[in-house]
Amino acid sequence: MKVIIIGASISGLHTATLLAKQGIDVEVYDRMNALDGPSRTLIVTGKISEVLDPLPEEMVLNQVKYLELFSRSRSARLELSYPDLVVERRQLVEMFARMAKEAGARMILGHRFEGFSQFGRKVVVTLRDLQTNEAKQISTDILVGADGVQSAVSTAASRNGHPVTALAQARVALPESGERDAYRVWFDTNQTKYFYWLIPESDRVAAVGLIADDVPQAQARLAEFLRERHFEAIEFQSAVVPMHQFGSAEGTVDPGRHVFVVGDAAAQVKVTTVGGVVPGIYGAKALARAILDGRNYRKELGGLKMELHLHLLVRHVLNRFRDHDYDELIGMLDGELKEILQEWTRDELTQSLLRMIWAEPRLITLGAKVFLRSLF
Ligand SMILES: Cc1cc2nc3c(=O)[nH]c(=O)nc-3n(C[C@H](O)[C@H](O)[C@H](O)COP(=O)(O)OP(=O)(O)OC[C@H]3O[C@@H](n4cnc5c(N)ncnc54)[C@H](O)[C@@H]3O)c2cc1C
Repeated sequence: MKVIIIGASISGLHTATLLAKQGIDVEVYDRMNALDGPSRTLIVTGKISEVLDPLPEEMVLNQVKYLELFSRSRSARLELSYPDLVVERRQLVEMFARMAKEAGARMILGHRFEGFSQFGRKVVVTLRDLQTNEAKQISTDILVGADGVQSAVSTAASRNGHPVTALAQARVALPESGERDAYRVWFDTNQTKYFYWLIPESDRVAAVGLIADDVPQAQARLAEFLRERHFEAIEFQSAVVPMHQFGSAEGTVDPGRHVFVVGDAAAQVKVTTVGGVVPGIYGAKALARAILDGRNYRKELGGLKMELHLHLLVRHVLNRFRDHDYDELIGMLDGELKEILQEWTRDELTQSLLRMIWAEPRLITLGAKVFLRSLF
């Protein structure tokens, strides 16, 4: 069986490794000439180590054990049982590429996917060699779109794109008040319905950023935040990220089950924090199982879909929060609720959400109050 994967990044390369390890003929294409895509400081939960068994130490720029949350007039400090890991996207992609090559996958760079057509059980993929400008047609049994937020594979299958949101972040000198093993989150609903963050990369450098509706808005608010807090940017990073919706993350784009999407291309992103690395890896695992065992990808995605749906529900409530609601929420972070938040990672909402509500029933009252207020 031959599989063509478009997109040599985290979700595409992980799918390639899992398939090639089982003897599948895998080719990975990317429009980039080298695996040197934009640098990006990422923070992921320790869950990534479970999946990658474990994440090699040299990949980890920093481990953060404490999470500090700030609202207008309250704050809380959580001690995470499983530290979050700070990694650099480019290094991570290079590591995934090494793993895919060792497993036997072939990597062909400098080729842009331009379309596909189906002939019976075969998919004919059109790719353009960006060096010679020559178009090539290659036949395959399965086509995988791991080509990110503006997935051309998904578009070629007449799928509408996903709604997106924008992230902007700057690398700055870690402030004197900052600690290497603590990251900070500020809620300010006048500026963003998400939050601002400061993530230390090392003793000296941190990433400061926010999520907003579009890139210009995110960049403008970030610039203001940096000015107010006297941060000097070393480097800026920004891009759009897809937002998971009910009904997205389905992954299969043709009824014959020969064309699939994974990772950002399938909007496999937690919309509470806009994190897509760990969900994209879970998506890759589900897709590899489906291809290898002839199973239904949608069914294999069941657990991930449930997790992403819960994040979406929580995001719907948080989008309606005002500053005083965050004050109230942070005021509740004590006792059992705090312990649950410390114990379970944000990739485990299916396990932790009910526990949180059971431990702190005022969460329901707060959610209901916020929701009702938004109706009137
Ligand atoms: C500034 C920023 C910060 C972020 N921080 C975090 C974080 O802290 N934690 C977290 O979990 N997530 C974070 N994310 C989200 C995370 O980066 C993405 O969810 C993740 O990288 C998606 O990986 P992917 O492999 O699905 O797609 P991508 O990494 O987007 O890769 C898609 C690949 O497809 C290739 N491609 C696209 N179109 C074509 C085409 N037509 N032909 C050939 N190749 C093509 C591209 O060149 C690219 O290599 C952040 C995002 C941004 C923008």
